[in-house]
Amino acid sequence: MPFLQKPPELGNQYEDDFALRSYLSRVLPVDVLADVQPALMHMGERAGGELYRLQLVDRENEPVLTQWDAWGNRVDHIEVTPVWKRAERLAAEQGLVAAAYERKHAAFSRVHQFALAYLFTASTDLYSCPLAMTDGAARALLAAGNERLIGRAVARLTSRDPRRFWTSGQWMTETAGGSDVGLTETAARQENGAWRLYGRKWFTSAITSQMALTLARPEGNPAGGRGLALFYVETRDQQGRPNRILVNRLKDKLGTRKVPTAELTLDGTPAELVAGSSDGVRHIAPMLNVTRTWNSVSACALMRRGLALARDFARKRVVFGAPLAEKPLHLDTLAGLQAELCGAFHLTFFVVELLGRSDAGQASEQQEQLLRTLTPVAKLLTGRQAVQVLSEAIESFGGAGYVEDTGLPVLLRDAQVLPIWEGTTNVLSLDALKALEAAGGLAALRRETGYLLQGVREPDLVRISARVEKALEQAEAWLAQAMKDGPAQVEAGARRFAMTLGRAVSLALVARHAQWSLEHERDARTLAAARRYAAHGVSLLAAVDADDSRLLARDG
Ligand SMILES: Cc1cc2nc3c(=O)[nH]c(=O)nc-3n(C[C@H](O)[C@H](O)[C@H](O)COP(=O)(O)OP(=O)(O)OC[C@H]3O[C@@H](n4cnc5c(N)ncnc54)[C@H](O)[C@@H]3O)c2cc1C
Repeated sequence: MPFLQKPPELGNQYEDDFALRSYLSRVLPVDVLADVQPALMHMGERAGGELYRLQLVDRENEPVLTQWDAWGNRVDHIEVTPVWKRAERLAAEQGLVAAAYERKHAAFSRVHQFALAYLFTASTDLYSCPLAMTDGAARALLAAGNERLIGRAVARLTSRDPRRFWTSGQWMTETAGGSDVGLTETAARQENGAWRLYGRKWFTSAITSQMALTLARPEGNPAGGRGLALFYVETRDQQGRPNRILVNRLKDKLGTRKVPTAELTLDGTPAELVAGSSDGVRHIAPMLNVTRTWNSVSACALMRRGLALARDFARKRVVFGAPLAEKPLHLDTLAGLQAELCGAFHLTFFVVELLGRSDAGQASEQQEQLLRTLTPVAKLLTGRQAVQVLSEAIESFGGAGYVEDTGLPVLLRDAQVLPIWEGTTNVLSLDALKALEAAGGLAALRRETGYLLQGVREPDLVRISARVEKALEQAEAWLAQAMKDGPAQVEAGARRFAMTLGRAVSLALVARHAQWSLEHERDARTLAAARRYAAHGVSLLAAVDADDSRLLARDG
């Protein structure tokens, strides 16, 4: 028999995940942990077993759009893949959205929900995309206080009954305006006392959803973001026909190919105002804060999947006389990836904790500001980390990582969307600056990191704490100087500034957890991750300026 390589396999993804279990042990009260653990064990078992196997079998399936039926009726039916059908049912039954709104565990309900989502996401072909928008829509409708729409939609968006459960889309991007959403061209007209929408939406994911929240400009409103209103749309009429919505085509994408992302024409689509006839961008903001948090959780979930497979492969693949898992250089490579995941995970779940407090009305003003600042920071940092970690994870399989029927390349392709949708890295860097301006600067963030690090005693962690504080001090000084130099300097450095904040806060969080884990679990793994993460660098702020950028960007 010729040599045959054993493929990588997955175990129970909850049981195998030391970082997740250790984090939950620290954060959740004992009774809450005991209550949520069985559901996490089940989800971990499914993620590494049934769902992962189904993903491999279903690998080549993609959503199919049928625009016309046999008799010439426009139907725009989209058939999703078997994994997506399974995922929809499971998501409802396991309360992947509902858990946050039932609030059984008060401020910890978001930790419960997102721990489930973290296990679910990598095994369900990014079904997290419609769940993110569903969660976001429920939060935006509740924040708007529109009782009719809350009664009509929120009960369905947060249902555990698969027959009642609805998902929601979020239609913002148009050809002219993606990041610059103020350029939205979709018009809203009142006809016979009801609103109708006319326009073209350029990226609309999970287009099988029953409803969507979207932006349009009521006739007569001024140009720009303030003149837009937030509208509620149901995608099908009472007979199940498209609600004056044409699906022009599905996007042919680099990744997320299981997610049906469509281009739409709204041709007199009936719609309802969610919260007044202007300030739509402000009214959709609660949705974006939730979808961005889902994005950060998805980034961690994909990194974790890449690493879980890479670790198992390293035990099985023998090179130069020994398994890869015994080769110091291979171990060093994987350790670097695990450290990045550890930083991303702690930052993401810190945001999740803050979101839970905010939902439960338990967040102080300072915590609300931190949530507002760290949501874009976590999204932008973890999105970039996911691309880098998954690129390296793919390489760790050698040639097999590049071959489609191993099921590995899709991880990298899917990860590449994470820094793009829900706001690109640059756009979120500018958003983080805006949030800091509203918070009155970095003082609160520095106070919070000081608080996080106050219990750190292990000598390496004390040294790491000093680095965190130095990086934040530098960031504050950089911002003060850039503001004196003018807006071009601030904008040019915004990404490096936001990344620095993200790396500093995540390192502080890893250090805090490392100390706890040493004391309570006698485990040095998080300490090792903290050292490694710090060695990868904290501050990205150097004395480069906007003039350099202009010079380097010139071609020819
Ligand atoms: C798979 C997929 C699914 C999607 N699904 C949806 C969906 O369901 N609903 C929806 O509404 N949208 C969706 N989008 C759209 C997505 O949110 C936008 O593509 C994204 O926000 C970027 O907008 P844009 O394409 O207009 O790019 P642009 O805004 O044109 O950005 C181009 C580049 O310019 C940079 N840039 C933009 N502004 C600035 C600035 N001020 N300073 C510095 N740099 C800047 C960006 O970072 C980017 O690198 C989806 C996109 C993808 C890829």
